[in-house]
Amino acid sequence: MKSMERRRAWQRLLNEGRWAAINWPREWGGREATVTQNVIYSEESARYRTPGIYNANGLWQIGPMIIRWGTDEQKDLWVPNILNADDHWCQGFTEPEAGSDLANLRTTAVRDGDDYVLNGQKIWISSAHIAKWGLFLVRTDPDAIARGEKHVGITALIVDMEADGIECRTVRDIAGEEMFNEVFFTDARVPVAYRLGDEGAGWQVAMGTLGHERVGTAGLAISMRADLDAMVNLARSANPDALRDPGIRERIARTHTDIEYTKLLNYRALSKILKGEPNWPEVPLAKLQWSHLAQTLAELAVDLLGPAGMMAKGGPDAADGGSWNRLYLYQRYTSIGAGTTEVQKNILADKAIRLPKK
Ligand SMILES: Cc1cc2nc3c(=O)[nH]c(=O)nc-3n(C[C@H](O)[C@H](O)[C@H](O)COP(=O)(O)OP(=O)(O)OC[C@H]3O[C@@H](n4cnc5c(N)ncnc54)[C@H](O)[C@@H]3O)c2cc1C
Repeated sequence: MKSMERRRAWQRLLNEGRWAAINWPREWGGREATVTQNVIYSEESARYRTPGIYNANGLWQIGPMIIRWGTDEQKDLWVPNILNADDHWCQGFTEPEAGSDLANLRTTAVRDGDDYVLNGQKIWISSAHIAKWGLFLVRTDPDAIARGEKHVGITALIVDMEADGIECRTVRDIAGEEMFNEVFFTDARVPVAYRLGDEGAGWQVAMGTLGHERVGTAGLAISMRADLDAMVNLARSANPDALRDPGIRERIARTHTDIEYTKLLNYRALSKILKGEPNWPEVPLAKLQWSHLAQTLAELAVDLLGPAGMMAKGGPDAADGGSWNRLYLYQRYTSIGAGTTEVQKNILADKAIRLPKK
């Protein structure tokens, strides 16, 4: 929680100088930065290892969606709140039967006067237990799935997480942290005035939201390079023998090359955007490359740092307070979050390589 407060203070400082969301319109506190400027800004922030922002969900995904789809009243109510890190926001899409197949979602919202009444369950919702607000996808046409039209009849609602009938239950993750939640709705009432976009237009709103998620990866190659440099430097004192091991040396060189290659892949996607071409298939390739590299780096770290790298937080001699051990466990998520590896590979096989189907 200390780090969350540090992030909140940092985001507020950025916001004072209009640096919190530079790609946003000027009237909503941004600088209308171009894509190139935004990429440079992300890279420089990563290079200086800035604390990170309080609410990535809000700034990268939900805020831009409210600016695009929201009414004037909704923008006034929520956009400054997101920009200034006043409240935490979560994104509630996934359900037990709707993950990769998101359109299979079944949480219902039934209109009752000026409210929708919600019933159902979400799962894996990051930081829902500390969020005041959330962007949720719900089903307003309960027959659409049976009709074979599951993308139809989904609606986006902004939910006050403190309202009656909403219960968050945290799920402990592999690293021992409790940031995930199951969210249960039992006759929870959400004002119709909190609907984002038209009733039934939730799929369009959601696709825009997930698109914004991809923009946030620009500085990753830079921060991964800094991680690689940091672990090699630390190994000089914590486990110097490892640096003489030819197998480890080769892995360091290979990882370094992979990081450079990932940076070039991002630049190719950027240059396609600048030429007005679709940045395809670089986006799913970059997602695959990111998850592969994040896990490769974390595995390299624990081998490179030896016993000190394996020590968890609080353990004697834990390297960097146990952060490498945590990463080793936590980075497994990168092949699941933002589109699973298998699904990304299917998309590439189908649409980029056009492999024949049986
Ligand atoms: C760290 C983290 C944070 C998250 N935060 C949020 C959040 O804030 N809000 C939110 O709504 N969700 C969140 N999620 C959930 C995430 O979006 C889902 O986990 C993801 O969409 C996968 O869905 P699932 O877990 O139901 O797995 P499934 O879709 O059930 O997949 C299970 C396995 O089957 C494979 N599979 C599925 N379909 C196919 C197919 N057609 N072909 C081949 N293989 C397939 C998958 O690749 C996977 O290996 C988060 C997940 C993680 C890991």
